[in-house]
Amino acid sequence: MSEDANKDQAGPARPGEAAAPADADGRFTEYLHRESKRLAPGAAFAPAIVPTSIYSLASEPSGEYQYARWSNPGWTALEEALGALEQAGAVIFPSGAAAVASLLASALRPGERLLLQSDGYMGTRTAAQTYFARSGVVVQTCPTAQIAAHPFDGYRLILLETPSNPGLDLVDIRDSARRAHAAGAALVIDNTLMTPLGQCPLDLGADAAVYSDTKVLNGHSDLVFGHVASREPQLLAGVVDWRRVCGAIPGPFEAWQLQRGLETLELRLARMHANALDLALALSEHRAAVQVCYPGLPSHPAHALARAQMNGFGSLIGLTLADADTAERFIQGCRYLRPTTSFGGLHSSAERRARWGDAVAPGFIRLAIGCEPTAALRAEVLRSMDQLAPARR
Ligand code: PLP
Repeated sequence: MSEDANKDQAGPARPGEAAAPADADGRFTEYLHRESKRLAPGAAFAPAIVPTSIYSLASEPSGEYQYARWSNPGWTALEEALGALEQAGAVIFPSGAAAVASLLASALRPGERLLLQSDGYMGTRTAAQTYFARSGVVVQTCPTAQIAAHPFDGYRLILLETPSNPGLDLVDIRDSARRAHAAGAALVIDNTLMTPLGQCPLDLGADAAVYSDTKVLNGHSDLVFGHVASREPQLLAGVVDWRRVCGAIPGPFEAWQLQRGLETLELRLARMHANALDLALALSEHRAAVQVCYPGLPSHPAHALARAQMNGFGSLIGLTLADADTAERFIQGCRYLRPTTSFGGLHSSAERRARWGDAVAPGFIRLAIGCEPTAALRAEVLRSMDQLAPARR
């Protein structure tokens, strides 16, 4: 992605034309067909679900499968699939939160410093400030917009999310990786929103990427899951060991379920990104919108970086309406917005983030755009907006 991305950054900012990571399409096609020719005659293309707690293990322990808290053939298949998407090693977990915890637990010792965003995903902050701070890790935070100017000296681990959620501010991954490494720190990017097809932190120099697969990667809102990806064997060995010892392991059926969801990732992501850009443009012209924040809009402060770093601009839109009541009326009045939290599913959804205590205006809505046909979704969202104030379209 890097060379093309840098060239693209200098070009005109046309909405809808995000820089394509050099090989996202090729990577996904390779991913889809990686087993097409290599399986033995009669072998199933779909991975097996192996619901066992034990394996045959006579005499001295040997082989890959010895006890089911340590390994399962379905995990192996899924980790190979996730690794193929990212051209890295992958380690799976029963949730995104467990994947994050595996990194913090394996990388940090008492007295070491961790940097997080003050306006990133709140669950990671809560875990760090509650459990890891209690064991002596020094947790510090910084607003996303100030990360570029924040010195990285003295940190052991820097864990950032870009775009941040729900504010949708961006972090320059390449620059952060360079500064982190110069300071002797490791950089981890929470890439949940963009997925490896929408942004590849490892290509940009991050030491690891972490994901809530609950969101876009599975995409069907019927699973909680997570994984860590890295090209550094020692880092991966640390998270594997933590999973093995502490037992945060996924079930074999859930691993199969995620593998099935992944097969349509590229299709879903393309539709979500197209829908989100279409809606962001339409909403930004609507009289009832106080503010529309979307990295794909030229008005976004980091639009040039978004075009350089991301393939598509993500499926989240920050829409600010007049007040909490107006926001609730908009959500309830729109037939094609599920009132729920989370994002990344086939169905578009919306919620006022102030209800969780995020530092946003009472009328701020996080729109999580799904895969509905574009024109139908736009028409219904605008119809609900029109009920709040006459359109000036
Ligand atoms: N990272 C991000 C960016 C998230 O949004 C979430 C959940 O909302 C998580 C991590 C945690 O993932 P999970 O809910 O799968 O444990």
